[in-house]
Amino acid sequence: MDKFLTVTALRRVVQLTAFFFFVYGATVFTTFYTDDKLTQALPALSCAYDMKSGDYCALIPLQHQMDHRVSTLFTGDSGIMQALMGTAITVATVALLILILNKAFCGWLCPLGFFQESVGMIGTKLGMKQLPSLSVETVNKIRPVKWFIFLFLVLIFPLLTGIGMLGHEWGSPFCSICPSRIMTTLAVGDMNQLYISQAGWGYTLLSLIADLLFGLMIALALFVRQPFCRICPILPMQTLFKKIGLLRLVKNGSSYCEGCSNCVKACPMDIYEIGNPAVNANITHTDCTLCGRCVEFCPHDGVMSFKYGPATILTSSKESFKKRSKIDKWWKG
Ligand code: SF4
Ligand code: SF4
Ligand code: SF4
Repeated sequence: MDKFLTVTALRRVVQLTAFFFFVYGATVFTTFYTDDKLTQALPALSCAYDMKSGDYCALIPLQHQMDHRVSTLFTGDSGIMQALMGTAITVATVALLILILNKAFCGWLCPLGFFQESVGMIGTKLGMKQLPSLSVETVNKIRPVKWFIFLFLVLIFPLLTGIGMLGHEWGSPFCSICPSRIMTTLAVGDMNQLYISQAGWGYTLLSLIADLLFGLMIALALFVRQPFCRICPILPMQTLFKKIGLLRLVKNGSSYCEGCSNCVKACPMDIYEIGNPAVNANITHTDCTLCGRCVEFCPHDGVMSFKYGPATILTSSKESFKKRSKIDKWWKG
């Protein structure tokens, strides 16, 4: 039994539990729709369109606040306090959550992250050839996309809508294309989010993009690791606060790391920087989901670690590397 006890095994249990809580939690723990969500500002893609969700992501309040509140600063319809208070509460909640768990909201709790990893496991079991890593050039081209999505679809377009420069359909444009909206609502038996809207060209365009993105994400996830995560606007939002996170990935590279790149090959987000042998620091990258695979797959004692405040809670070792590699070989057949 002990031979299967790994960080990834523990992570799967946590992910599965979190999936049920975030997708069906209101059914089990509460009775009403909005008032009883856990934080209403989760730094992971749990969806407010799922009426049974236990909590929803911070991106929906941010878009609504840009559209209905922050915009009033420009139209002169309200004072500073009224315009900014909602956003300040959402941002403070996100900061507090990041302080506690940092980017582990992605690697351990996000329903959409777990869904993509599950599709990847199905792809492996179906015998589909897995793309081991994306090239550095491809990774560098993809990385800025999430910042554009965050800036334009979460902040700027909703703000311009509130000011009256864009039509109402651009008030929450990221929600309109978000694959988590479709995945989580389908998971509770609601087919309505798959519709192609006929309400005007903007609505039609956004609903078409949503369905295409959802289909593409599933098709890619069969052989590419976590395809949507690479462009997810949650990552830039988390990054604004990642420096205060108590949980972090640390490398003690200089004298021990031989630059074998095992950690890079294991990383589902293709963060090639973690393989740099000269690094001796907190290496929690913007794209990191704190999944722990790099720690599991580093073959040297104490080179890669998870720290929580001053305490080391997980560290790489020859033993765990051997065990993990064996399980990986068995799993891939
Ligand atoms: S559609 Fe996406 S961004 Fe909007 S609430 Fe749902 S998970 Fe969050
Ligand atoms: S990056 Fe992935 S795991 Fe993180 S919130 Fe986005 S979809 Fe979820
Ligand atoms: S750097 Fe390590 S912890 Fe971060 S996503 Fe990659 S494998 Fe996971």
